[in-house]
Amino acid sequence: IAVENDGPINMRTFDLSTTAPEARVQLLRRPVLKSDEMIEKVKPIVEAVRVHGDVALLELTAKFDKVHMDSTVIFPPFAPETMQIDEAVRKAIDIAYANIHKFHAAQVNDETLTVETMPGVVCSRFARPIARVGLYVPGGTAILPSTALMLGIPAQVAGCKEVVLATPPRPDGSISPEVMYVAKLVGASAILKAGGAQAVAAMAYGTKTVPKVDKIFGPGNQWVTAAKMLVQNDTDALVSIDMPAGPSEVLVIADHTAIPAFVAADLLSQAEHGVDSQVVLLAVDLTPDRLAEIEKEVDAQAHALSRVDIVRQSIAKSIIVKVSTVEEAISFSNDYAPEHLILHLENASSKVASIDNAGSVFVGPYTPESCGDYASGTNHTLPTNGYARQFSGVNTLSFQKHITSQEITADGLQGLGPVVATLADCEGLQAHANAVRIRLRENSR
Ligand code: NAD
Repeated sequence: IAVENDGPINMRTFDLSTTAPEARVQLLRRPVLKSDEMIEKVKPIVEAVRVHGDVALLELTAKFDKVHMDSTVIFPPFAPETMQIDEAVRKAIDIAYANIHKFHAAQVNDETLTVETMPGVVCSRFARPIARVGLYVPGGTAILPSTALMLGIPAQVAGCKEVVLATPPRPDGSISPEVMYVAKLVGASAILKAGGAQAVAAMAYGTKTVPKVDKIFGPGNQWVTAAKMLVQNDTDALVSIDMPAGPSEVLVIADHTAIPAFVAADLLSQAEHGVDSQVVLLAVDLTPDRLAEIEKEVDAQAHALSRVDIVRQSIAKSIIVKVSTVEEAISFSNDYAPEHLILHLENASSKVASIDNAGSVFVGPYTPESCGDYASGTNHTLPTNGYARQFSGVNTLSFQKHITSQEITADGLQGLGPVVATLADCEGLQAHANAVRIRLRENSR
């Protein structure tokens, strides 16, 4: 798409009533992620860190981040002078921390589930924290203390023992004081001053100085994402990741009650993330005048933004889809499975029950996505690219795993044993059947 540098900032418009089914499928698509190509590119970086550890990590940090350091890891207690931040920002971080903590602490699942499935056969399930986790906080183009909160708090409330927070160093080799402050709040046990694929590899395999982790979380650019995909498939690393990641997205559904300036502001708050941000507006039976008002607001507000050049490119790729009813809009949204879904609808809260696929939902005119991005309490690390069909956003359970257990009495085995022996015989697994029969014989003596 050719983008003029000073022309109007417009989205493209489609009408669902005149869109053929194949064209509808196209509207639901995101740009193809070239993951194979990126994985090939990150392989040598990941391999270098796997084989050469800290030496490679320092060399790659010098090469890609232009920072020369003697060591990449710092441990608590963190020096107070590294955490000096503006008082208003500190207060805002503290309130965000309290809300996110409250919501994620309520998700802690530490109750043991116990069920007697047959007389004398008791099954239970209990949760344990993942012991060692790595949190990637992007830092190439912006400082993101909010991401440090969103990853660090659930790790903290889940009770993870080792929390390694990785983020690229600034040109002087330091970490932004806001991220340092959050690292202290969430109780990080180490900070890795490295970014990109090399940071992911260091956490996946461990080095002499970087602790190895069991699961890696967090967003990042394509180097980070590809490295996460690569290490999760390496049985030597024995590491898992939170979810596949792609460019951020929002889908807004607006009806006649929507306030054009609010709708435009919400679309733009997503569009400013990056040139590949995905922005969709579903206009429910809007009059041409009302739609024109929204478009006028998008153009006017966009021109006033400092990131207007990014917005110009992302808005040019964004779409407005005209639909006739709210049901049609929600059906389209469920098929699209957006990362963020904003409902500018009459009785918006009554529509939430029909949402089947979305990362996080923002209900009503006074719930901008920005609140979930920073401080309402919900997590902002959410599934993109349609993965909201099968993935949840990061939450406290992402930092726990469940163990099941069963205990069977001698009497219980009298009831269950023959069932198991029959199934084992059916599958031809004689030793399995024997393990039951040897006990049944013993019981009957
Ligand atoms: P980043 O920390 O992800 O990546 C920076 C690192 O990339 C550098 O440290 C460098 O080591 C590596 N790198 C850069 N160019 C390289 C090259 N040519 N070869 C090898 N390595 C290279 O920071 P970023 O680049 O600013 O990207 C942040 C990303 O995170 C953006 O895509 C943003 O949209 C995304 N993000 C998403 C969310 C979310 O919740 N979805 C939140 C915040 C940020």
